[in-house]
Amino acid sequence: MNIRTRLTLLFVLLVASIVLLFTVSVYYLYDQFREQEFRQRLQEKAVTTVRLREDVGEIPRDDLPVMTSEQVTIYNGQGVVLYNQDSKQPRFPITTAFLRKVTQTRQPQYIRLGDLEAIAVIHLNIRKEPVIIVASGNDRYGLSKLDRLREILFSGWLLSLVIVGIAGYLFATDALRPVAELITQVNAISATNIHERLRVGRQRDELADLARTFNDLLIRLEEAFVLQKSFVSHASHELRTPLTVMMGQIEVTRLQARTAEEYEVAFDALLDEVKSMIRLVNGLLELARANSDVVTLNYQPVRIDELLWLAQSHIVIKKPNYQIDIDFDNLPVHEEELVIVGEESLLQTAFQNLMENGCKYSPDERMSVRILFERGQLKLTFSDQGYGIPPHDLPHIFEPFYRSDSTMTINGHGIGLALTRRIIELHQGQIQVESEVGKGTTFRITLPTTYTPPSNSKSSQKTGENVIAD
Ligand code: ADP
Repeated sequence: MNIRTRLTLLFVLLVASIVLLFTVSVYYLYDQFREQEFRQRLQEKAVTTVRLREDVGEIPRDDLPVMTSEQVTIYNGQGVVLYNQDSKQPRFPITTAFLRKVTQTRQPQYIRLGDLEAIAVIHLNIRKEPVIIVASGNDRYGLSKLDRLREILFSGWLLSLVIVGIAGYLFATDALRPVAELITQVNAISATNIHERLRVGRQRDELADLARTFNDLLIRLEEAFVLQKSFVSHASHELRTPLTVMMGQIEVTRLQARTAEEYEVAFDALLDEVKSMIRLVNGLLELARANSDVVTLNYQPVRIDELLWLAQSHIVIKKPNYQIDIDFDNLPVHEEELVIVGEESLLQTAFQNLMENGCKYSPDERMSVRILFERGQLKLTFSDQGYGIPPHDLPHIFEPFYRSDSTMTINGHGIGLALTRRIIELHQGQIQVESEVGKGTTFRITLPTTYTPPSNSKSSQKTGENVIAD
């Protein structure tokens, strides 16, 4: 069921229930009023009849057109009929129990049998004996008015349903028109015209908010789309360059016969290019893995200090002249403060990238790592006193293939930082960079640990102990 039909039905149901409630109340209240009025008339009739009978001895027949099957019967205290006003009319069937109730309560009692209604009142005759007068009749006019009222109310209710149904449908169609327009506009946007945006209009309603939200989504999608496109062209370019260089070298070497030494030099140069290509392809594969589904990653508890030492030794084996210092600001009391849940190989790649960059982009080929522990968090800083990054490059260095012009002479592909940021994000961490040209660069990483700090009472106790020990 679509929203328009649902809204219409809801609207009809709501209004129909309210009108029905109102209709039933009107009918019920009118019925009460009619009954009360008729009871009053019957009572007056009973009293008048008995008075006239006592005063005049006979009762003139005042044929009330409003009442049919009219009958007045007088019973004595023992329930014996003393008088019947109209001998042709049947008497209202009264039980002795009912008569007894009238005598006991001394109050007028009302009784109804189908359309025939009766009231019984107690009266003291001239001999001061109690007699019971039962006046009965059929409120023909009242009941026919009630019937008519019922018909009017019912047909009015049905008519209101039809009107409300049509009005509800038109209202829902009008209310949902902007949604239909939004759907048409969104359907018209595809990869070829992803730069297009939805019309927000001048209104400040929820649909304008929805259009704005869609536009924000489109901006993000467009960025990702453009990035994806440039990623492919950058990757192709980065792969083509070493291949072209290798082809040139092979062609030049083949031009004439070479000595064994010359061949060795040529092969070494080729090997360097191949190694560089392998590094790039590995970086791309790691990036693809880090961008793939998080579920496929193998998350396990990892000790960060061990991982940092491992990353350091890997780099130093490859580049023995690189100097990487690892400092602990303060050793944690609990070992768990050093543990985070993550993918070990990815984290090692991230740390290696930052360590390698620190040395690679410093003339002294030296950098330092500091670890700081805060409640539930590990803070790592990777700093160097190298060339630094110009301010205009800072916002872009985490983009894939972005390289600062100032360091173009140094080997690299621009993949490392993009990969590092993705890895840190995968571990619910954050990475920030500060840099000053000529002074150095610092990367700050925050990672959540598995450690849950002890409850207040314990920690306050611990603080107390520390104070005494100091
Ligand atoms: P690569 O080092 O292979 O070029 P990265 O993604 O690791 O790729 O780095 C991107 C760019 O950021 C580098 O080309 C360099 O310009 C800059 N950069 C990264 N780390 C540093 C650093 N520690 N000092 C100076 N520049 C840096």
